[in-house]
Amino acid sequence: MKDVGKSIKRKEDSKIKAIVMLSGGLDSTLAAKLILQQGIELIAVAFKTPFCDFDCGKGCTYRVRDVADNLGIELRTIILGDEYIELIKNPKYGYGSGMNPCIDCRIMMFRRAKELMEKIGASFIVTGEVLGQRPMSQNAKAMKIIEREAGVEGYVLRPLSAKLLELTIPEKMGWVNREALLAIRGRSRKAQIELAHKLGINEVPNPAGGCLLTDPAFSKRLKDLLQYNPNPTLNDIELLKLGRHFRLSSKAKLIVGRNKVENQKLLLLHSPSDFILEVEGFMGPISLLRGIVDNDLLNLAASITVRYSDAPKDRSVMVNVKSEGKNWKLLANIIDEDKIKTYRI
Ligand code: SF4
Repeated sequence: MKDVGKSIKRKEDSKIKAIVMLSGGLDSTLAAKLILQQGIELIAVAFKTPFCDFDCGKGCTYRVRDVADNLGIELRTIILGDEYIELIKNPKYGYGSGMNPCIDCRIMMFRRAKELMEKIGASFIVTGEVLGQRPMSQNAKAMKIIEREAGVEGYVLRPLSAKLLELTIPEKMGWVNREALLAIRGRSRKAQIELAHKLGINEVPNPAGGCLLTDPAFSKRLKDLLQYNPNPTLNDIELLKLGRHFRLSSKAKLIVGRNKVENQKLLLLHSPSDFILEVEGFMGPISLLRGIVDNDLLNLAASITVRYSDAPKDRSVMVNVKSEGKNWKLLANIIDEDKIKTYRI
């Protein structure tokens, strides 16, 4: 860590500043509170990956902004985009139970937190991590690896479990009083909820989570995408979050909207070379066909689109197709139930 000597000297005559990695959940909120109580100035940093799914209905950074405002601290958001997609393809430390590369993900986040720390003259990083809470990244061995690889060894303070962990630099330097920190371990939230009430946090947020990479159904879609398209774009990833997915060939995939909102999002996300399909004259989904497509595949996509529409099942119906600025129609029959299952991802 560069500039340590300089920063230690500075601590003698100015208020100590640290970064807190804030998720919007209870643990990082409590960690921040405990450190603020020690008179330390905090700047919050929130990370957004292409796989965040904070389902509060108000936009994904809403909850964390609300928490930062309640704590009265500044919030900076770091967006991890293409570099995160690179990471997900081949994580050095592998995946968890889904497609979650938690160790590599945390390394990337700590590296970025370290950059911010140096830029704003902060002295250490605070997190809401609890020893033993998450199997892949919150055990002592993984925490060490993450710190070492991110170049922040000794500079990460985890107030909720600090007394179970090795002394950190902020504790050794006397910037933080270890005695006022905690020794929480494991997955139960009981101790955190009691602490929240003690600290006057009456509205206890649900566990932060919100990472689609731990979701089995989403992980299956992502695995399929990476198998057939080793270089997906952020747009390909956004499409994974919507609709029903069908692998029609190694080079073509169909996404069928499940409701009005998804249909609108599919229209927003489609690119000119995609094929947009919609049954004529009956309520039904928007389908987006992406890839290298021949007439057989187009007919197959149309028959799947009919399956999810209100069109009668015993006769052919017209399906409108749009691509590259051109519109045309196809006559399609509904696909067999047994056949459709073979394409579903
Ligand atoms: S759950 Fe998702 S966001 Fe959290 S560390 Fe794992 S991969 Fe990263």
